[in-house]
Amino acid sequence: MLNGKTALVTGASRGIGRAIALKLAELGANLILNYNKSLSSIEEVVKEIESKGGKAIAIQGDVSVFEEAEKIVKAAVTNFGSLDILINNAGITKDGLLLRMKEDDFDRVISVNLKGAFNCIRHASPVMLKQKSGRIVNISSVVGITGNAGQVNYAAAKAGIIGMTKATAKELASRGITVNAVAPGFIQTDMTEELSDKVKETIVGNIPLKKLGTAKDVANLVAFLVDEDSLYITGQVINVDGGMVM
Ligand code: NAD
Repeated sequence: MLNGKTALVTGASRGIGRAIALKLAELGANLILNYNKSLSSIEEVVKEIESKGGKAIAIQGDVSVFEEAEKIVKAAVTNFGSLDILINNAGITKDGLLLRMKEDDFDRVISVNLKGAFNCIRHASPVMLKQKSGRIVNISSVVGITGNAGQVNYAAAKAGIIGMTKATAKELASRGITVNAVAPGFIQTDMTEELSDKVKETIVGNIPLKKLGTAKDVANLVAFLVDEDSLYITGQVINVDGGMVM
């Protein structure tokens, strides 16, 4: 149970971030919900948590901007007095084949998906080091392990997340802070909704469990990793992918 713990989830307005926020709140954590643009969606998440007796505060900020990440992390300490759990979930795609990929599309995906996680970890770690405890979970992707045509930028960012997770885990382990990465496979969210039915059918055909994952499937793994009892698991990359990559 996470009673009295403070959890920060980036990109919590929808999809996987929203599901993680709801799950951690259900387990008793106080939530700092970061969002970038969608105020009405985040207000709904706050309301949903409050209606079940939980505490949640929405904080606007673009995680790719160092100072904004600092503001988001500070909100946790100011409002709830600590920061015990950081979930780096915010992410975007700007897909395209390598030969047509614009420099901006490469930079923006790296900036949000990889640097955004660094920015939040950079500001959260001094707080956790002082507390001598903490849980960091970075949302990577199976694409960061296997690569994927049309996603050079995204695959690079998600592979980068894995390297960063391992290096950070080594640096922070002696202070009781664990850092792990979760690599979702094909999860039904707005991000994947853009794909055609034909592409989805092909993907499902290659998944041993023969179905798409849900945001809840990812949230359940995150909840396990942030639990007090998971203190001997660090520097790992765990897939939630129906057996897609093994
Ligand atoms: P989504 O697009 O539904 O949600 C992404 C969230 O990130 C949104 O709330 C968005 O507002 C937020 N965000 C985007 N840019 C931001 C910024 N600069 N600052 C703060 N917040 C920002 O996507 P999702 O499917 O829920 O994905 C969540 C995470 O899981 C992402 O990191 C994604 O790469 C990863 N992932 C998703 C899948 C999948 O199949 N859906 C698979 C593997 C990994």
